[in-house]
Amino acid sequence: GRICKYSTAAANEEPIKAPLSVTDTQLLINGQFQDAVSGKTFPTLDPRTGDVIAHVAEGDAEDINRAVSAARKAFDEGPWPKMTAYERSRIIFRFADLVEKHANEIAALETWDSGKPYEQSANIEVPMFVRVFRYYAGWADKVHGLTIPADGSLHVQTLHEPIGVAGQIIPWNFPLLMYAWKVGPALACGNTVVLKTAEQTPLSALYVSRLFHEAGLPPGVLNVVSGFGPTAGSALCSHMDVDKLAFTGSTDTGKVVLELAARSNLKPVTLELGGKSPFIVCEDADVDKAVELAHFALFFNQGQCCCAGSRTYVHERVYDEFVEKAKARAMKRSVGDPFKEGIEQGPQVDSDQFEKILKYIRSGIESGATLEAGGERFGTKGYYIKPTVFSNVKEDMLIAKDEIFGPVQTILKFKDLDDVVRRANATRYGLAAGVFTQNLDTANTLTRALRAGTVWINCYDTFDAAIPFGGYKMSGHGREKGVYSLRNYLQVKAVVTQLKNPAW
Ligand code: ADP
Repeated sequence: GRICKYSTAAANEEPIKAPLSVTDTQLLINGQFQDAVSGKTFPTLDPRTGDVIAHVAEGDAEDINRAVSAARKAFDEGPWPKMTAYERSRIIFRFADLVEKHANEIAALETWDSGKPYEQSANIEVPMFVRVFRYYAGWADKVHGLTIPADGSLHVQTLHEPIGVAGQIIPWNFPLLMYAWKVGPALACGNTVVLKTAEQTPLSALYVSRLFHEAGLPPGVLNVVSGFGPTAGSALCSHMDVDKLAFTGSTDTGKVVLELAARSNLKPVTLELGGKSPFIVCEDADVDKAVELAHFALFFNQGQCCCAGSRTYVHERVYDEFVEKAKARAMKRSVGDPFKEGIEQGPQVDSDQFEKILKYIRSGIESGATLEAGGERFGTKGYYIKPTVFSNVKEDMLIAKDEIFGPVQTILKFKDLDDVVRRANATRYGLAAGVFTQNLDTANTLTRALRAGTVWINCYDTFDAAIPFGGYKMSGHGREKGVYSLRNYLQVKAVVTQLKNPAW
């Protein structure tokens, strides 16, 4: 893969290839695992079979109220924002160590609940999770304001303060990474958190949050509520005592979240939403390498990436060769039980996603695109879909406009740079773009012309903790990761003091 692989302490141990039992299924509020007030539960399913893995406590508005008041108390009365930044940093570092120690179990749980290949969970996602927490643990004691020269005899400083209670809502495609991108910067800056996980994948967040408390996190600082969007999620967005919201998910739901925030207390919102990112293969491309990278850009994580390179633009000079080779590569992709070694693609996360993708495939065929590979389910049970490639795709087809969020590559032909820039930017989204070329001028021209929050040149899906990530246009507001994410979780207070003696 093109993704940078981190090594963990656990990497040399024999990986756990069979799912474990599930230990944590209740809501985590004020440091205590507890049932939902209503007593309700919902099943979380194994995408390989559709079988129930576990019944998980189903939080709704009442549980969100409890979680918010625990977070409120932990913020207003301490200990979290009142601790030294160094103490906060040390707890986050200890948490990262504990996650590393339990890396194999966590990776197995993630694969079991989401369907992603175990090797990906173990070699990429858990190590990246650890890396993001260490990155923000390092920031905790380096957040501070400025001293500012102003006109007149004034002494001016800024204090960078935590905002308060952060409500965070995450999706199911990268349950652990989304947890890290949200919880890491919020806690490092001294905020307290109520996290609403996705109903498809509630398990890994509960497991790691237990470890966080073992690492010394005080009760109430991080509360985790499993449950559904229209109930638990919207209660969090509307809550008058939540000071900031961060959401990752679909653009449609992002609009709802923003509206709920505006109608309640105008809490600031960061949004990381959908995409339809172009991946541009230029005429000078080494076709074999371009095929491999474009394949990775689209098919990684069963195609369930908001930044998937889902419109593959290929220069007409290399188009025919590219299509042949892209087809061959897709047909070679190993699909199967994500716990098996060497598997590149597991099942889609649930039956809704599975059906939605098959519908888009039918729409591609009906609209006249050429089906080169796949086009149907894989096997007879679970939510597997054959790696699918369409060529001859035109911009007015639904498969070129909508986010499919599945293993469906759409290939379009272009003539020159003006042509591809115009077409690549003709979308409501602007999350990412990929450029494959050796020509410096082409790379620079495209980089400046493309309207997207990330431009990857000769690489894709590099998710280093320090690199900011976020969207232009309807792909969202704000940036996560890196130093940029700290801004989302800080208030700036200007402190202005009149000086008696202007000479000094
Ligand atoms: P998807 O369609 O991929 O499931 P969503 O944007 O609906 O994407 O879901 C992402 C997250 O948003 C999940 O945690 C989900 O429960 C939550 N969510 C869905 N609907 C709402 C809503 N109306 N208010 C708040 N959160 C919601």
